[in-house]
Amino acid sequence: MPSRQDIVDRFAGRVPSTFGLEVPGVALRHPGEGVALTFDLCGGPQGEKFDHDLWKLLQELAIPSTFFVNSRWLKANPTLARELGADPLIEIANHGHEHRPLTVDGRAAYGIAGTRDAGAAYDEVAAPVPALTDAAGAAPLWFRSGTAHCDDVGVAIAEALGQVVVNFSINGDAGATFSAQQVVIEVDRAGDGDIVIAHANRPGSGTAGGMALALPAMLERGVTFVQLADALPSVRNPY
Ligand SMILES: [Zn+2]
Repeated sequence: MPSRQDIVDRFAGRVPSTFGLEVPGVALRHPGEGVALTFDLCGGPQGEKFDHDLWKLLQELAIPSTFFVNSRWLKANPTLARELGADPLIEIANHGHEHRPLTVDGRAAYGIAGTRDAGAAYDEVAAPVPALTDAAGAAPLWFRSGTAHCDDVGVAIAEALGQVVVNFSINGDAGATFSAQQVVIEVDRAGDGDIVIAHANRPGSGTAGGMALALPAMLERGVTFVQLADALPSVRNPY
């Protein structure tokens, strides 16, 4: 794995050309069959909780999914992180260290400043890896930044560190602000190749209730669900 200095040497001075949610190199869909459900665990002042109802639902329905875990959430919930990592239905991925847009010029999204240079982008991607690997038993293959915004140089840095940046084709809960009915409308339209984003750190939001309405009906009509590891080529496992 490249060192911090390797990344700084290679990427310092690179000027980003694109910024946002849909930057070239970011996976928005997957090429396989099935729906990839992804849940962010953001951490921070409003986001260190855990939606046990959601996890219970996924277990009861035996639906695989991918959880993007931020360092702040992991630090607040070390035991729970290990329990999630031990659940064969759950794949653990990287949701960053300080929950910032992954940039090399500090560009902000929703008022949250991005990482300010290549070294800070390295830290955002690399710093969570030891604790995530410890919790999951395997190094993360996927990275999603805080706010899901990034620039193209940030995407290249994540890739150099062995992680593909993954965003989404369906916004399942709009940062856990949707009502259960809104969650149903969005999640229910997911099909083969879609990557759905939602949140597992906001118990009491409409997310678990919406999933509880949407997912059984989808299973009933034959929709299948996949973890990203089984559906998306990674930097380390290209196929
Ligand atoms: Zn987040």
